[in-house]
Amino acid sequence: PDQLLFYCRPGFEADVAAEVAANVERLGWQGRAEFIDQSGFVNLVVGDERPANELHRQLAFERLIFARQSLVALPSLQLKRDDRLSPILKQVMESGWSFDSIWHETPDTNEGKALAGLIKALTRPLESALRKRGALRRKAGGRRLHLFWMGGDLVQLGMSFPGNRSELPGGIRRLRFPAAAPSRSTLKLEEAWHEFIPREEWDVRLSEGMQAADLGAAPGGWTWQLVARGMHVYAIDNGPMKGDLMATGMVEHLREDGFVWEPPYRLDWLVCDIVDKPARVTAMVQRWLTRSWCREAVFNLKLPMRRRWEEVERCLAQLEDAVADAGVRATLRCRHLYHDREEVTVHVRLRD
Ligand code: SAM
Repeated sequence: PDQLLFYCRPGFEADVAAEVAANVERLGWQGRAEFIDQSGFVNLVVGDERPANELHRQLAFERLIFARQSLVALPSLQLKRDDRLSPILKQVMESGWSFDSIWHETPDTNEGKALAGLIKALTRPLESALRKRGALRRKAGGRRLHLFWMGGDLVQLGMSFPGNRSELPGGIRRLRFPAAAPSRSTLKLEEAWHEFIPREEWDVRLSEGMQAADLGAAPGGWTWQLVARGMHVYAIDNGPMKGDLMATGMVEHLREDGFVWEPPYRLDWLVCDIVDKPARVTAMVQRWLTRSWCREAVFNLKLPMRRRWEEVERCLAQLEDAVADAGVRATLRCRHLYHDREEVTVHVRLRD
């Protein structure tokens, strides 16, 4: 294999390409990112003597921002409608790979969704053929075969490894919208917690009796999540909070400027969904972190500009430097979540 394949939200291909190119250079590799705008994926053609698997291993998925999934891939296959299976079987057998599971996926586009029927028809026959040939078996090191369907007659085979991939089909975390929540945005904070906080730590890191601030809180989708975990919330916004939430008695609504408001004492959580310049939001969060006004933070950076990856990179570098200069130890992560549109979500955790 000499390719890597990355999935992304359609329209963010250039950001994945820029991000991957920067990482490839940082790691001392040669490679060329190729993509079609709005396609929902990016290919990296590795131009190096070393095998692409090695680059893939060095490129920690957890540290990527815009890629929803990261795979080692083979050249895509053009298929004939009367026999789609044979070329796939041939390519798998020639690769010498074996797997313990197979996932069929498509780009996150309408054309992709239209392939569901075809995929359903192929799933069983392909599994049994690969099982018979020993390419699908138990205990294959957790390796997963991904069939990425770009059309009814176009597929690309990829492989993923435990510990360096998204464990979600298509790299997409689907969440049910809680009917009682005041706004759709509520899912962004919930997804952020799933993404950044291991499930077994929720009870200690998102627990009853904690104190939180929600900057730019109205109408209350994020506040609703905090209250659902039993937290007391300072909801900072000039706009109105939706009624039911206020009736819980868990929320103090302050019509103040989130950029200047200071907490009365050290809080557990800071969250912020204010629509403003990324650099301005970053500077504000920086003030919170360098003064240790909270233990953890989740905030969004809105990215209406063209070069989104570059903008995020600048903000994160600035934040990391400032926090380090202040002698505060912090873990910082950033992802373009499924429920994020033209924005990314940043998580920071201060360490004692
Ligand atoms: N997270 C919210 C939810 O889930 O319902 C939605 C937040 S909405 C995208 C952004 C909010 O930020 C708006 O309600 C706006 O009034 C507020 N806002 C904008 N500038 C602000 C500022 N300087 N201080 C406080 N709030 C601000």
